[in-house]
Amino acid sequence: MQNRMFVSLGLPLIAAVAAIAQPPAAAPFMVHQLKPNIYWVEGGGGNSGVIVGDKGVIIVDAKTTPAGGKELLDNVAKITPKPVTTVILTHSDGDHVNGLASFPAGITIIAHENNKKEQETALAAGGRGAPPADHLPTQVIAKNKTSLKIDGVKIELYHWAPAHTSGDLVVYLPSEKIVFTGDIVAAQLPDPLIHLEKHGSSEGWITTAKGVVGLNADQYVPGHGNVQTKTDVQTRLTNAEAKRAKIKDLVAQGKSLEEIRTAVGDAPPAAGRGGRGPGFPTFTEVVYRELTNKSA
Ligand SMILES: [Zn+2]
Repeated sequence: MQNRMFVSLGLPLIAAVAAIAQPPAAAPFMVHQLKPNIYWVEGGGGNSGVIVGDKGVIIVDAKTTPAGGKELLDNVAKITPKPVTTVILTHSDGDHVNGLASFPAGITIIAHENNKKEQETALAAGGRGAPPADHLPTQVIAKNKTSLKIDGVKIELYHWAPAHTSGDLVVYLPSEKIVFTGDIVAAQLPDPLIHLEKHGSSEGWITTAKGVVGLNADQYVPGHGNVQTKTDVQTRLTNAEAKRAKIKDLVAQGKSLEEIRTAVGDAPPAAGRGGRGPGFPTFTEVVYRELTNKSA
């Protein structure tokens, strides 16, 4: 998920100024311990993971802004004096990546190859949502499963299919039975969040969620919101599969997007959208677009 302020940059100046003048209240940083050497940090954008290895620290996702990245590092320094050596990125959205600007030079940055491509595209486009040019991924992942041992910690990286974006990576710690899902799970949203503009896919999301549920884990740190159980993720998967199947039926019957929204019980789209841009398409809209190739 990206900061909606970025979305408003395409709007008339007055709306953009209004959005910048009233940024969403930044959530305070909070550090939560999961195991003696494993933490997650909320606030300042997407959730981050902190894994303390033998000699250094591995971070999962880096917050939204340089200030957020620095605040994350300040929190890590309260946990351990060991240096941050490695960052693993779950996907390319700015609220998980752009805080890297405050990270030390020369660290290892691991990401899926499509994540790196998406960051390069965003960098070429420029603007305030662009990732830091001097902290692009240094190690790209192309396989569906990659087993690593970093600083004494066993880590498995999974990419089953394009889901939230084309470059998602799920981070699994088999010894600790912990998964960092990235925005495959955004716990505050009832439905999956798919970025079609980054070639995400609702079908790929279902494949990915099945993979995530299949891991031998009992704590799932989502990209946003609180830690989930396997049952929570399974419920999310079951609901999304049922909703997608229903939308598919309704599309086959020739129903319009509005009729489908009503039939599946979605809230009507917000009327006054204000200066913060239209937000993200809903799951219903994404599935409708995928099945019809229509934009609305
Ligand atoms: Zn995201």
